[in-house]
Amino acid sequence: MDATSRSAGADGAGPPPRAVLLDVNGIEVIYNHVILVLRGVSLQVREGGIVALLGGNGAGKTTTLRAVSNLLEGQRGEVTKGSIELRGERVEKLTPAELVRRGVVQVMEGRHCFAHLTIEENLLAGAYTRAGRAEVQASLEKVYTYFPRLKTRRASQAAYTSGGEQQMCAIGRALMANPTMVLLDEPSMGLAPQIVQEVFEIVKDLNAREGVTFLLAEQNTGMALQYADYGYILESGRIVMDGPAADLAANEDVKEFYLGVGGGQRKSFRDAKSYKRRKRWLA
Ligand code: ATP
Repeated sequence: MDATSRSAGADGAGPPPRAVLLDVNGIEVIYNHVILVLRGVSLQVREGGIVALLGGNGAGKTTTLRAVSNLLEGQRGEVTKGSIELRGERVEKLTPAELVRRGVVQVMEGRHCFAHLTIEENLLAGAYTRAGRAEVQASLEKVYTYFPRLKTRRASQAAYTSGGEQQMCAIGRALMANPTMVLLDEPSMGLAPQIVQEVFEIVKDLNAREGVTFLLAEQNTGMALQYADYGYILESGRIVMDGPAADLAANEDVKEFYLGVGGGQRKSFRDAKSYKRRKRWLA
């Protein structure tokens, strides 16, 4: 696939779109040799973008991120069809550590901080692919400027910090690898709305000021579409819709099934999900 796209408009108006950093092309993923979970997922992430991968429980968001960061093996999963390219280079055969060296780092769902380590020890663990001590120290200071709460809590054992602090620690740990792209799995999970917003604001800042690209798997569609520039909606292992975040947020189906707003009355997410199974999106 073409790694760069056409420049915007024949009159040259607007900046040209950025190059494609990640190109996932028609991947199928199977767990335990029999359970087909992704059925031909394609998506692109451009350099410097924030792309949201949306969908309900079990849609395949985590599986897609694991396929990109090559973390399927431990789950007895494998990519059986399609390709994954990073800047035009096939990466399906790389190890997770090689991907980290190429700038792709995943923040797992559920945060996964090392409970018995301090916040600072957790952050330093994220720098395992980096050699220079001074560089690592500079990254640590940078993480603390984005997450001042972590600086305050640097000596606390992670187990005794709040869910929000652990989420920040998990993102901070990913940043210690100096990534080009962070795959962020459900950062809002289990957090109070105010903390979710705080986390998303930091993501936006990291994107704007450090140029970090994000691929963000989220069930919190409303929040994700506020911060993303582009979104994909996954349903039962297939992408059923994609577009600029503002277009998705304004789309009637998305409003009805994912934002809980439809026909003038709010629906619970659970109602929307059971209804959406009967709906044919692309009919
Ligand atoms: P959630 O938000 O609930 O994590 P998700 O969209 O991230 O949902 P996945 O975790 O990718 O979805 O799961 C997609 C499907 O794959 C689900 O039906 C799930 O049960 C199945 N699945 C996930 N991991 C495994 C595994 N290791 N072995 C077998 N099936 C799995």
